[in-house]
Amino acid sequence: MSDVMTQPGFDSLGLDSSVLKTLSSLGYETPSPIQAEMIPYMVSGRDVIGQAQTGTGKTAAFALPLISRYAGESSSQAQVLVLAPTRELALQVSEAFVTYGKHFPAMKVVSLCGGMDYRPQLKALRDGVQFVIGTPGRVIDHMTKGSLKLDTLKCLVLDEADEMLRMGFIDDVEAVMKSTPAACQVALFSATMPSQIRRLAQQYLKDPKEVTIKAKTETGSTIRQRYLFVSNHEKFDAAVRVLETEKHDGVIIFARTKDSTVALADQLKHAGYKASALNGDIPQAQREQTVEQLKKGRIDILVATDVAARGLDVPRISHVINYDIPFDAETYVHRIGRTGRAGRQGDAILFVTPKDKRLLFTIERVTRQKVEEMPLPTAKDVNVVREARFLESIDEVLASGKAEPFRAMLEKHQAEKEINPLDLAASIAALLYKGQSLHIKDVPRSERPARPARDKGVRVETRGRRSDSGEKRKPAVAEEGMVRYKLQVGKKHGVKPSNIVGAIANEAGINSRNIGRIEIYPEFSTVDLPDGMSSKVFQHLQKVWVSGQQLEIAKDGGSAPRSAAPRSAAPRGGAPRSAAPRARAPRS
Ligand code: ADP
Ligand code: MG
Repeated sequence: MSDVMTQPGFDSLGLDSSVLKTLSSLGYETPSPIQAEMIPYMVSGRDVIGQAQTGTGKTAAFALPLISRYAGESSSQAQVLVLAPTRELALQVSEAFVTYGKHFPAMKVVSLCGGMDYRPQLKALRDGVQFVIGTPGRVIDHMTKGSLKLDTLKCLVLDEADEMLRMGFIDDVEAVMKSTPAACQVALFSATMPSQIRRLAQQYLKDPKEVTIKAKTETGSTIRQRYLFVSNHEKFDAAVRVLETEKHDGVIIFARTKDSTVALADQLKHAGYKASALNGDIPQAQREQTVEQLKKGRIDILVATDVAARGLDVPRISHVINYDIPFDAETYVHRIGRTGRAGRQGDAILFVTPKDKRLLFTIERVTRQKVEEMPLPTAKDVNVVREARFLESIDEVLASGKAEPFRAMLEKHQAEKEINPLDLAASIAALLYKGQSLHIKDVPRSERPARPARDKGVRVETRGRRSDSGEKRKPAVAEEGMVRYKLQVGKKHGVKPSNIVGAIANEAGINSRNIGRIEIYPEFSTVDLPDGMSSKVFQHLQKVWVSGQQLEIAKDGGSAPRSAAPRSAAPRGGAPRSAAPRARAPRS
């Protein structure tokens, strides 16, 4: 594998100059692979299908070109409509549009999400808005009401199409696709390509350009790979603990943006490390100098972006820390390949935030290597190392004879004041630390994210699925780790499984992947949810409205209701549940 990847910069993709300005102010250095491939097609108005894992920068892959094309145009009607599976994702996309379009003062963005007040949405639509981002159900509502008109629509984006399918929104999505003008560009993004999504694409997209970002990779066997669960605000503390407790030589820390390399290097310097930033904004001569300093040991830590560190060959690099997870497994492999050079042993440590879980799987799957979990070094771990290092430096000073000149003075003082020699030594140590403690304390950690839900996801996927013989499996009680709840909305209120999945995913923040079997009875429904729901979420769910009913969620006591047999059983939105996991299997 070559260390040199040829990748265009953002400026060669056909984006508007104001957008480029925004990108550089955001510290985005290079387009991610999906961005590099998709943006030119998006700019030219072609229909596209983009398949790449979460966290690979798909939002910018459509938002940047669409802003470039339409943000400067004056129109009082929707020009761009983005459909996203959940409120959270829709709001995230809206925020991205606002951020990326900040140099277009006239640009108007609205989010139309379920579970939110209609009034501001109606007002925004009346006042005129060009970029509409919403969840399928609410978007259809507005279309039906006549408050959202699609006759001037220039581009429809389906973000996370497979997730919309899984949540049972496929019919709504299709209805929207049918309502767009014939010339409307369609961009479909999905992490996987289940057959129903493929069918939609075949039916509604015109000669689409398909881009699949496959990560093909291989990692050196001399590199020990570990990951550490952290939340974003814990990253710096975690980095320091890792640096203190890991026996290291040279270290490269990878961060996602140029700005964050500088900020992190500054923080590390402040904490007493010999660190320096390396990014594409730093003049070439200075970059070379920095690398030279690392080679010679005048600095120990480089905080780098991918571009700046590409191909870097410094034998003394013992550790690569992925402070921000890379966009794809290939980049990961490039990064960790900076260590374990020339047959030496190297260590790669990956910081994984709850949002990054899926990227971790991709990395494991693509590299065909298990990345082992490492615990956050405890205060005790750190303190043991600090004490040992301190005592070692005392031994060194003693052996060097440098303590001699102080001896007479201290001897006199000790005799006069009759100080215990140990007290004297301890006082000098305290002086050295300027009143600071040598020891650190453990702060309460934010809750560690549950083990990535892949296994769980697969388990949930199979739950309630029709068996091959076509027979329904109907467990009487929820599976282990799940609790069965009863909801006061049923068949007679017109509820569909997708409404329940949508409401719970949106209102309880439970990933739809973790929502289990749903059964709909005439008067009520049951749903299996992961054990351990917080009482806050529980109380919130009580009041959520679905199909005109408040859920009034309550534990179902673990047994299936005895009344009438379910009218409509589990498969949500008619999607065979095996589709998604199978499609997530290695694509080699
Ligand atoms: P996806 O939609 O594929 O899950 P996102 O669009 O949400 O991924 O992007 C993930 C994160 O990466 C976001 O925080 C985004 O700001 C950041 N990001 C996207 N593109 C770039 C880039 N080219 N350089 C640096 N950061 C980026
Ligand atoms: Mg996304």
